[in-house]
Amino acid sequence: MENQKQVFCFPRIGRYTQVFCDLLESFGLTVLLPPPITERTVKLGVRYSADMMCYPFKITLGNFIESIEAGANSLIMFDSRGRCRLRHYWALHDLTLRRLGYKFQLYHVNFVNILRLIKTFNPRLSYVAILKKLHQGWIELRKVEGTWPALDKRNVNIGIVGEIFTCLEPAINLDIEKRLKELNVNVFNTVRISDFIKACLRLEGSEKRVYKRKAKNYLNGQLGGHGFENIYNTMYLADRGIDGLIHLLPLSCMPETTVEPILDKICLEHSIPLLRLPIDETKSEMNFETRLETFVDLIKRRKK
Ligand code: SF4
Repeated sequence: MENQKQVFCFPRIGRYTQVFCDLLESFGLTVLLPPPITERTVKLGVRYSADMMCYPFKITLGNFIESIEAGANSLIMFDSRGRCRLRHYWALHDLTLRRLGYKFQLYHVNFVNILRLIKTFNPRLSYVAILKKLHQGWIELRKVEGTWPALDKRNVNIGIVGEIFTCLEPAINLDIEKRLKELNVNVFNTVRISDFIKACLRLEGSEKRVYKRKAKNYLNGQLGGHGFENIYNTMYLADRGIDGLIHLLPLSCMPETTVEPILDKICLEHSIPLLRLPIDETKSEMNFETRLETFVDLIKRRKK
């Protein structure tokens, strides 16, 4: 590894993948675009992970294996410094990949070490230059996210809540947004990386403050993952008159499982149909499609 040129890679995460790739390249790094997630990626991840480990861990592990095989030797993994397993993914990835005999360097990036880490990767960059590039990356990320469509009373409006990776990566969620749009549904995916970054940096605006306050009443302290966000986003969508809600959760996700009864209660109180879709390596596309179509049909009839 020592005299080898560094080729960086990170796990795929939906439409954000290219944004992160461009950002790393803007720091002067050589970056390998993470390979697409396929059945093989899933199989590799499942084979080398503990059975009860959450599904996103398995996918990111499989993605790292395929990235190394494609020529990456410097892996970057986000470290949430939060309360669930995402905080420890990088350490377990490192351990597992070394046990498998791969040669690589793994860097865990978080909001505390990010500037120092980029400076280590490219010492010629000043901290001001790094901050400017991060700001440009933020602008690109916001462009990719776009804005939510307005709620359309004549059409079916469905909100999506759930675990961040599962809601954002089409290869994991079987491209749920596209499938819903093909059924003429207005989709409101509440999971966005910009919101996640703002929450981590405590830079959130006041838009959902009232819902956050109410959401806290359901919990006995911090939960981790996207659990808390899903509670207040469900309340927010309910007040805006959403027609249905889809809860996407990977097996065996602790925060998502914990909020299940809370989301059930909010939806029941607002008479909002709720479809819960647990996802893991045994998912069947046919089953997924049928459940989705039935759910949308049911809402369409209800609206009539
Ligand atoms: S949010 Fe759920 S799936 Fe994601 S790391 Fe935490 S426990 Fe695993």
